[in-house]
Amino acid sequence: MPTSRYSGYQSFSYLEPGRDYEQYDLSADVDRLTPHDLGLTADEAARTERLLAENVVISLHDHPVRLPRHARTDLLEWNRGARLAYGYEGLSRSGLDAVFDNLGWGACETRNGWKWDDVITDLGMRFCDFAHQDYVIRAETVADIRRAHAEGRLAVVAGLEGAALIENEIDRLDVLYGLGVRQIGVAYSDANALGSGLRETGDGGLTKLGRRAVRRMNQLGMAVDVSHSGDRTALEVIEASERPVLITHAGARAVWDTPRMKPDEVIRACAESGGVIGIEAAPYTTVSAAHRAHSIESVMDHFRYCVDLVGIEHVTFGPDTFFGDHLDMHHVMSAKWGVEDTIRSGPAFDPVETVSGMENPGECFRTVTGWLVRHGWTDDEIIAVIGGNVLRVLEKIW
Ligand SMILES: [Zn+2]
Repeated sequence: MPTSRYSGYQSFSYLEPGRDYEQYDLSADVDRLTPHDLGLTADEAARTERLLAENVVISLHDHPVRLPRHARTDLLEWNRGARLAYGYEGLSRSGLDAVFDNLGWGACETRNGWKWDDVITDLGMRFCDFAHQDYVIRAETVADIRRAHAEGRLAVVAGLEGAALIENEIDRLDVLYGLGVRQIGVAYSDANALGSGLRETGDGGLTKLGRRAVRRMNQLGMAVDVSHSGDRTALEVIEASERPVLITHAGARAVWDTPRMKPDEVIRACAESGGVIGIEAAPYTTVSAAHRAHSIESVMDHFRYCVDLVGIEHVTFGPDTFFGDHLDMHHVMSAKWGVEDTIRSGPAFDPVETVSGMENPGECFRTVTGWLVRHGWTDDEIIAVIGGNVLRVLEKIW
């Protein structure tokens, strides 16, 4: 297995910071936090590293950019500039071979973002940065992911959390596919012309336009995600889709009762479609009654529940993390985009400073793999949930 090809590139280093663009004080993408201690023996740690190195490891949902260190003063302006530095070095040490990077946040002005121009700006800016280095490649096929693994590179899959930006033009899905997008969520928490989001109290289900969009995404070979959709909309998307449907980042409502988590019925339907659920780890999402302080332990309570419910072949991880202080970001975003209301509507949880072990894209898969090794899961089971299941599903969707 080749070691990482990363050779030190930093985002936008083809420009002169301060002269060509405004520079912010950014969070480090390596060695920012003390690693979570799983108490692994030397043999268990070695087995963890071997599993990460030898197998295809895929994050089904993350945001691998470096947040400003001072979110409360810098975040919104930094975001509007769309010049979001990638955590290349952190990613190169993460064990990941592929990551679903959910774009659309960069450049967005409005509540929820995802206006057409904003997304095109974000996409183009990200790909422009990628074009100036040779460690990250754009993943448009399963072969790209396998190549990244074989060559010590990272394959980045461009995804969008919501489809509001297509408005009522189905052909925009073709345009997005042509620009490299391979996964789109139906609705990002608020309802749109396709269907309802999880924040809505009345879910009218998948609209006729939404049905046409699902059909087109099937025809294009673009993954449909229902992570932020309402329950009825999610079920109707799964019913309408001829290909497996993804829940890229969520958890089980039976474990933690918030709208952000999925009821058994939706998780079962996703699995029956041939899809997978990626277990989420953004702050205060996958908490559990047994672990009210969000950490790897509560995340794995959701994992175990989903494995028991639908079988291990339908479960994976979509941690949904950034390089930087996610809680600080939520605080700033909630005023503008309303990201916290669905989380706060659930049971009381214990405050944490970080989701220990699952705080950033550099550490999540090492923590998950180590946890599984420590808790007696077999190599085959671990290989499936850290990437094998996603590869199998993408072969059917793309
Ligand atoms: Zn999300």
